[in-house]
Order: sequence, then structure tokens, then C-alpha cells
Amino acid sequence: MSTIAFLNIGMHGHVNPTLPVVAELVRRGHTVTYHTSPVFQEEIEAAGADVRLYPGGDPALPDPPTPVTLMEGLARTAVRLLPAVLTDLRRIRPDAIVHDSACPWGAVAARELGVPAVSSFTTFAFNRQVRSPTSGSWELLSAAAARPGSAGGYLSSRRRLRRRFDTRGLPLLDLGNLRQPLNLVYTSRAFQPAADAFDGSYRFVGPSVGARPADPSFPADRLQDPLLYASLGTVFNADPQLLRTFSTALAPLGGTVVVSTGRTDPAALGPLPVNVLARRSVPQPEVLARASLFVTHGGMNSVNEAMYAGVPMLVVPQGADQPMVAGRVVELGAGLSIRTEDVTEESVRALAWRLLDDARFLTAATTLRTAQREAGGYRRAADEVERYLHAAVPARALTPVDPAQRG
Ligand code: UDP
Repeated sequence: MSTIAFLNIGMHGHVNPTLPVVAELVRRGHTVTYHTSPVFQEEIEAAGADVRLYPGGDPALPDPPTPVTLMEGLARTAVRLLPAVLTDLRRIRPDAIVHDSACPWGAVAARELGVPAVSSFTTFAFNRQVRSPTSGSWELLSAAAARPGSAGGYLSSRRRLRRRFDTRGLPLLDLGNLRQPLNLVYTSRAFQPAADAFDGSYRFVGPSVGARPADPSFPADRLQDPLLYASLGTVFNADPQLLRTFSTALAPLGGTVVVSTGRTDPAALGPLPVNVLARRSVPQPEVLARASLFVTHGGMNSVNEAMYAGVPMLVVPQGADQPMVAGRVVELGAGLSIRTEDVTEESVRALAWRLLDDARFLTAATTLRTAQREAGGYRRAADEVERYLHAAVPARALTPVDPAQRG
């Protein structure tokens, strides 16, 4: 049995797919530690990991979360967290580290400890054809020039990182695309653009959707079909007017319209049609399992989960990698996309109607559903980690896992 240390950044979209993997590794008899911030403590503990909290509480997300502010935040956070994280990890003595592809302190910690590392991609995998938002480009350069404070902060944090820690292997800029000898990508080869251009270190394991803690306050038994669902995710401050427009546009087409308002107070949407249920957070996989249509910001997890459930989408990208995700959904015929500035009650209703009426969208979504399920999900991710551990760690250092414990 092995000890596996997970390190992650504080975003739901990056934590969620790791939870079923953690639960599966624990179920197979491994010890899993997980470095995180307080907001995720409960759900990670529920997955069976031994939680280690980062010092300093929940780090604020960069506002706005653009590639440049994100890079600066990641480099600064790495400088701040690494001393405490390394002290913890030297005590834990993990056999492997699994870190998010945007978690530089995970990659540096693996170097410092000399342990095998796995990178966990909750976005697309990136290369020359599929550009990472933090890869060197003219766009990034001009964004940096427009935010000299962030660019300067990034450079000084990188200097401090290099002086204090072993940063070999850490890309100069592309901190959102940290690669390791094993890279777990939580989507299917079918959805990944240019999937054949990635080498064997990339394993497209598909969406990692497992049982989440039940939410007894969610009135699942009161939902009427056809269920229509709208969400702008958990990171971007959802504009209440935009959420209101989705609600009023969809209400005449649906039995129940479920709206997840995220960081926005549902009351800010004002009075809504009676068949609209607006809540800050809903059990998304459960809602998608019943939904006929999903109006989404195109967050990679949301889209992966929608394809897993075979639900056609109307994608309204808000930033980050979402325009790229939206483009792929449209390209594969599983949905349509609209720019935020083009959203009106009429435009959303017309597109939603097309998505519900034209069976080709459902057919494409159903094809992706099969690809997403066949990719293997969290069980395959756990298999890949175990295989990697056995190849990387001398056999005598590992106690074989008792097959009886695997259930
Ligand atoms: N989510 C949820 N309930 C909600 C809204 C979101 O459980 O009401 C989950 C969703 O299932 C997904 C994650 O939060 O796993 C959102 O990740 P995504 O990458 O789609 O978007 P982000 O929030 O990172 O922009």
C-alpha cells in the first residue's frame, strides 16, 4: 500500500474531479493526504483523505481571474505555501504526489522530495495545437503590459521561488499547464481536440463523477419534466440580470427550470416565474441526470458532466478556457453557443427551442455520453496512478495491495 499526497488549488472545478479518485484509492487500501484550504475540508474528508490545511485560510481568487492575474496569484501563493507544505510532506513521506496542472507548489514539492509526480488536468490537455491560456503568446504579452503590477509581481515571485526552491522543470510562464510523466485528463479522447497529438503520458480518463454527499435540502421530488438547467459555475460572479434572463427565457419551455446562482444571491434575480427554482448551489450531476437542456458557462467540469449525462448544451462562455470549450461543443454538434452580449430573453429562448426540437443535438450528446463513460472515469484514474507507482517505485518498497480489499 502506498501513501499518495494530493495538492490542489482552491477552485471547485479543480477539486471536484479528484474526489472520486481519492475515494477509490482509499478504498483500494492506500493512504491519501490532501493539501487544501478550509472551504474544501469537509468534502475531501468525506472522500477519505487525511486533510492538511494550507496556512492562512482560503486564498482569495484573483479578480478578475485572467491568465496574467492567475499566473501572478499562483507564483505568489507557491512562495507563501511551500515552506509549510514541504515541512508537512517531509513528515508524510509520500510515495507519489498528485497535483493539479495549475498547482506549481505541488510540482516544486515533488522535485524537492524527489518523489514521482502525477499532474491532474481538469481542463483540456494543452500542446502547440491546443494552446494553454498561460502559454507564451502575443496575447499574453499584451495582457501583461496592460497589468504591469501583476506582471511585475509574477516576475518577483518567480525570482523568490528560484532562489529558495528546486524549480527545475517548472515552465517559465505556463503555470496552468504543468506536465509530469503521468498526466490524467478528465475528459474523453473524443472531446479533447487533437487528441492524437498527445504522447502516452496523457491518459484521457473521462469525467470523474462519483457519489457526492447528498444535499437533503434540494427538493428533487418536486421537479417536473422537462427539466431545464442553467448555471454559470462557481468562479465567475454571475450577473444576476443574465441569470434572470435565462430563467424567464426558459420558463415557458420547461416543467421546472433549475438555476444555480453560485456567488450571486438568488434574491438578486428578483421575482421569478413559479416554475423556476433558483439556488446558490444544486447537486449538479443529479440535476443533469434528469435534464433535457443545460445552459452553461462552459466550465470544463460542467461540460464534462453534461456530456456524461448526454444533455445538449447552450454555452455562454464567461472567460478562461470557456470559449475553447464552447467551440468544441459546437464542433461536435452537442450544442450551440452564444456570446454574453447577444443574450436576450428572445435569443436564448429561440436557441433553447432549437436544442430541444432538433434531435441531432441529442444524438450528438448521446454519442459523447458513450465516449465519456467508456473513458473509464475515476476507476481508470486510480488504475493509472497505481500502475505508475509500481513502475516508479522499486517493487520492494511497496506492500502489495490485498485484492480482497478492492471489493
Ligand atoms: N457545481 C455544483 N453545483 C452547482 C454549480 C456547480 O455541484 O450548483 C459543480 C459542478 O458539478 C462542477 C463544478 O461545480 O463540478 C464547476 O466546475 P466548472 O469547471 O464547470 O466551472 P467553474 O465553477 O470552475 O467555473
